[in-house]
Amino acid sequence: MDNSCLFCRIVAGEIPATVVHRTETTLAFRDINPKAPTHVLVIPVEHYADVAVLAEANPSVAADVLASAAAVAEMEGLAADGFRVIFNTGEDGGQEVFHVHAHVVGGAPLGPMLAGR
Ligand code: AMP
Ligand code: ZN
Repeated sequence: MDNSCLFCRIVAGEIPATVVHRTETTLAFRDINPKAPTHVLVIPVEHYADVAVLAEANPSVAADVLASAAAVAEMEGLAADGFRVIFNTGEDGGQEVFHVHAHVVGGAPLGPMLAGR
């Protein structure tokens, strides 16, 4: 665990979160500042900085994160109408928390993929 990492501290129970799904390798909780009617973050319980690091270091856990994202979409009632899974990565990707997380967003039409383009 990285004590300076917000999401490691959520995994450790040091910072509260609204957990919606949990597996041996992943945790899913509601985003504190939702950008859509449903906005859940799915993370590996182990610390990896971003999706590229995770994919290289542990493809099996990367697959677990995707499977949990799909499970969350199903549980949240998004599967029929569709949803988006986003991994913001690095500076240009707008990543703010450097513990890899999939944003699972939906519950309404989400509009164009990229704002202002
Ligand atoms: P990103 O910009 O892709 O790194 O996304 C980070 C996300 O974490 C943002 O959508 C924030 O709203 C969310 N966030 C920050 N702090 C918390 C927290 N304590 N609990 C839940 N979500 C958080
Ligand atoms: Zn972390």
